[in-house]
Parts: sequence; structure tokens; C-alpha cells
Amino acid sequence: MTLFSPVEMAPRDPILGLNEAFNADNRSEKVNLGVGVYYDENGKVPLLRAVCAAEEARVAEQGPRPYLPMEGLASYDAAVQTLLFGAESSLLESGRLVTAQSIGGTGALKLGADFLYRLLNKRLVAISDPSWENHRSLFEAAGFEVVTYPYYDPQTHGVNLEGMLEGIEKLPEGSVVLLHACCHNPTGADLSLADWTRVIDVIQRRNHVPFIDIAYQGFGDNLQDDAVALRLFAESGLPLFISSSFSKSFSLYGERVGALTLVTESHDEMLSTMSQLKRVIRTNYSNPPTHGAKVVSAVLNNVELYAKWEEELAEMRDRIRIMRSSLVEKLAAAGVTKDMSFIERQRGMFSYSGLTKAQVARLADEFAIYAVGSGRICVAALNTGNIDHVANSMAAVLK
Ligand code: PLP
Repeated sequence: MTLFSPVEMAPRDPILGLNEAFNADNRSEKVNLGVGVYYDENGKVPLLRAVCAAEEARVAEQGPRPYLPMEGLASYDAAVQTLLFGAESSLLESGRLVTAQSIGGTGALKLGADFLYRLLNKRLVAISDPSWENHRSLFEAAGFEVVTYPYYDPQTHGVNLEGMLEGIEKLPEGSVVLLHACCHNPTGADLSLADWTRVIDVIQRRNHVPFIDIAYQGFGDNLQDDAVALRLFAESGLPLFISSSFSKSFSLYGERVGALTLVTESHDEMLSTMSQLKRVIRTNYSNPPTHGAKVVSAVLNNVELYAKWEEELAEMRDRIRIMRSSLVEKLAAAGVTKDMSFIERQRGMFSYSGLTKAQVARLADEFAIYAVGSGRICVAALNTGNIDHVANSMAAVLK
């Protein structure tokens, strides 16, 4: 008997397992649609020109590398607030906002979960059915009971709004409700403005705590419209938790750049909340890394670089849209009679394709196309070089 001999193998992460299978596949036409990353037309993770320019300036500066404060780089935190609420928002000068730079969007969720654990007696969080896998694991690891509210309607391939409202209504008063601001992962099905108003109404009536995850700002319609849910929540006067990430919008996955933002009721609340959040940070990792935040801050705080970034973000968004339309067209051309136009209506990087587990398995076995068992496909992994093979193969398994 050794110290580690009782340790059992943890269950395999389904998506990482998929990557391993993809890497081990020797067929030249293989395609990995299981990823959660934007690939460009050449199948590469892009390095944005705005990021390059900011990095060159940072290297040329040859500055020292001291620690950042626990809550991160001040110019970054302020720029995050402007991006979330809009430059015109009265919240920016209200003294009620708390923002802490975090280790990606995941780190923001973890900080928020740890903070809420200390704050609440009732530790119940409701996530959408389905949701990003890590939402459940992360909140469970932080000590919460995790339940789901209905979200996706497989008939319409959109949101089951009535089910969602009813599910949220039925939660015990004061539950934490985790919501996706835009580009829902994994379904690509989003709420409309009118839908959000109804969701806010139930949350307010039931004294729930809204926690909004925004990992894809700019991938839906544009930077402003994708943040509309946050802005409506903020206007409603509810306290608010927001986890945000620049992993996708800046293509800075490995730099781990995100933020946790809280909307409090008053300046005094902001001060005490920030002081407690700093304790959570101090006892987790002390303070965040510098590079990603410096780069993002340099871009967001410079008019020219900002414009360049917005343009590049639009290029990514438009390319995904073109791939959506093209996939719908090519599926029809390959003989799929079922209406697949929902793929065009879904937003962001993903589509819940409606493929069954067995069809997903056939795609991998017979055609070297890898997707998640739920049928989630990453539309951002399609390009003009692989889309015919994907459409023809999907058509073959759908028939
Ligand atoms: N939230 C959602 C809905 C996501 O899809 C992701 C990443 O895939 C994250 C959060 C985490 O983002 P990050 O990679 O910045 O930790």
C-alpha cells in the first residue's frame, strides 16, 4: 500500500478524449468539430493583428515585471466594465462596480462561486439544460448543489422559453441562476430582448441571484447587442455577477484573460465586497498574470487598435456565419430533406446539430469527423477545404 495507490482514475473528460482520438487518427480527411476554439479559413487559431501590435509595443518597452494588485490591472478592469455596460452607462461612474481580473472566464466563475459560497446560506445554483459542462463541475467543486432549468427545445432547435421561466420560478427563493448572455454553449440558441425581460422579471420576483456568463461577446451580432442582457439586468437594479472572457474574442486562449464583475447597490457595498473578493483571490493564487491583461488593455484603451480588433472580431463572426449558411446549403444539395435551417439561426461557435450519439459515432468511424456525443458541432472549425466532406458525411449518416 502506497500513499497514492487508493487513487482511482478520474472519468475521462469527453472533449479531451475526443481530441486524443482525433490526433491518433491517420486519415488525411479528418476533421475535429469537437473543439471549443475558433479556427480560421486555414484551420489555424488566429493571432489577431491588434494583439500583435500591442505585444510588439510591450516587448519594445522592456518594462519590469512586478506583481499586479490582487484585483489585477486597473486599466484592464476599467476597460472590461466599459465593454460590458457600454461607454454611455451611468454605472461606470457610479462607484458600485467591482471588477477583478481573472484566470480566464473559468477563473471568474470560480471566484464568483467561492465568493457566493461564503455569502449564501442556501447554496443552490441552477444551470441551463444543457450547459457548458464545466458549469456543473465548477459549482459542485465549490460546494454548491447544482440543478438545471429547461432551456433547449429539440423540436424548434431554439429556446423553450415557457419551460425556462417555469423552471426558474419553481426554484427555492434566493437560488443562484446561471445564464449565458449570448452564443449559448452548447446549443447556439439565444434569448431575444423580449425573452430577457421576462426572465429578469421572474428572477426579481423570486429574489434569485443572477450570474451571467459572457464568454463570446462579439460572436453573436456585435459587441453592443451581445451585451444587452447584462445591460437589462443592470437597469433592473438587481445585484449581479458577471463572468467574462477574452479567450475567444481576442483569440488569447492560453493567456487566460477574463474578469469577474459584480454590480452592488452602493459605494459602501462595493468597498466591502471588493475587500472580501480580494481575500478569495489572495488565498487562491494571490494575484493574476500580467501579459494578457496588458495586451487587452492596450487594445481596448487605444482608438486605432480597438477599431482594428473590432474589425477582426467581425471577420471571425462573419466567417462563422458563412460556414453556417454554406453547411445548410450543402446538406440540402447532398440530399438531406429535413429542414436544417436552424443551423443558420443558431449563434456563436456552436450548433446543436440534432445528430444522435449513434450518428456521431458513425461520423468518426466511417468519415474521420469528430463531434461531441450530444451532437454539438463547432461551426468555427469548418472551412472551405473541409466543409464538403463534412456536409456529405453528415448527409450520409442522416439518411
Ligand atoms: N463559459 C463558457 C460558456 C464557455 O464556453 C467557456 C469556454 O469554452 C468559458 C466560460 C471559459 O472560458 P475561458 O477559456 O476563458 O476560461
